[in-house]
Amino acid sequence: MRAPHVFIETFGCQMNEYDTELVRSILTANCYRFTDSADTADVVLLNTCAIRENAHNKVYGHLGALKSLKEEKGLVIGVLGCMAQNLKKDLLEEHSLIDVLAGPDSYRALPELLEQAAVGQKGMAVDLSEYETYADITPKRVDGVAAWIAVMRGCDNFCTFCVVPYTRGRERSRDFAGVVREAEALAASGCKQVTLLGQNVNSYRDGAHDFADLLLAVAEVRGIERVRFISPHPKDFPEKLLEAVAGHPKICKHIHLPLQAGNDRILRLMDRTYTRAEYLALVEQIRTCCPEIVLTTDIIAGFCSETDAEFTDTETLMRQVEYHSAYVFQYSERKHTIAARQYADDVPAGVKAARVTKLIEFQRGISLKKNREMIGKTVEVLVEGEGKRSCDQWMGRTDGNIVTVFPVSSAIKPGRLASVRIIDATITTLYAESV
Ligand code: SAM
Ligand code: SF4
Repeated sequence: MRAPHVFIETFGCQMNEYDTELVRSILTANCYRFTDSADTADVVLLNTCAIRENAHNKVYGHLGALKSLKEEKGLVIGVLGCMAQNLKKDLLEEHSLIDVLAGPDSYRALPELLEQAAVGQKGMAVDLSEYETYADITPKRVDGVAAWIAVMRGCDNFCTFCVVPYTRGRERSRDFAGVVREAEALAASGCKQVTLLGQNVNSYRDGAHDFADLLLAVAEVRGIERVRFISPHPKDFPEKLLEAVAGHPKICKHIHLPLQAGNDRILRLMDRTYTRAEYLALVEQIRTCCPEIVLTTDIIAGFCSETDAEFTDTETLMRQVEYHSAYVFQYSERKHTIAARQYADDVPAGVKAARVTKLIEFQRGISLKKNREMIGKTVEVLVEGEGKRSCDQWMGRTDGNIVTVFPVSSAIKPGRLASVRIIDATITTLYAESV
């Protein structure tokens, strides 16, 4: 009998990409095979994100597009991840297309759920666990130069706007030795860069080991050339961690430091636990300790009751820090969150959109200026593969995570570190020549 073929599509953050690799591993061990299109699949899985309204809308759009395929050939459709966890029964009842729901802590139940779905029984598994880290499952990765390792799951911070603690549950760290072993196995298979993942990655702890210990241990793995991490929370930045980043040549000089808002009243309403002054002091400390650091951030514009003047505080902070790049989001109310229960989502949609546009426009100018400052400099790039636009170009990233393209030469191969001189720059890309 032909093994059932699965097509899986991933929405949202790196953690979801990583979870898709876990699901691939779990299903492969249960004799499922994978295909790269819904047309050739028996099972379609959507691994979803719930962080903002538009993430939801994208998934609904994809479900609609699967309707005729389902009617034609009786496809099994599963929704995985944060949206499944957040909407649970509502999703199953409102969308007759869906056969299976599995939340982020329930992927081990998938083979059984899919088996039942194949004989016409809908099912869901959405219990959150205090312990599940999938530490014993080796993600089925696409072979390449770079890989992710989720070192912790869940989040205990309960920022008032954020659905993550409700969809991914309580914070739990993986064991230290297991993460290092996984990095060693990756290095043995040719991987050169590891990114340590967590919703709140710098609060990692396993017994006496904290996040700085883990970062340093992974950086010491033979064969690993670069270590990155995402996303840290500004509240957990001990000097030891900064010294690790500044001092170890294999730990990349890039910190993504989500700000969210530059006004103290809004930060308090968000329950971010730092003030504008404390955040700015941290930025200064980071830059003093590591002058070459590349700083990036996340911003939410139009949070509940944010006034024009309070929004301007975010703008002035961005001007002061000059991030290398920033993700700017419109606040979108999420079911279950503290903000949804306690505050009115009262900034008009047009005002939110205008604030986002203003910050994006401003940031584009700074990103271009910062990239153009790199022209003439020689930097080291980890080559990932062919450029998106042309197979005559290699694409790689600088230590600070900036995409760099340069002409293909036979002396350089993906997985190698190449010295290149920057000759041109756009907002998002550096153009270089080999040296
Ligand atoms: N753990 C990270 C931190 O503390 O900053 C962030 C993780 S979250 C998956 C990624 C980003 O989504 C957040 O930094 C925030 O800017 C944005 N975000 C989260 N909830 C949001 C909401 N309800 N509306 C708009 N943006 C949101
Ligand atoms: Fe969400 Fe805050 Fe946790 Fe980040 S730290 S995942 S924003 S609750």
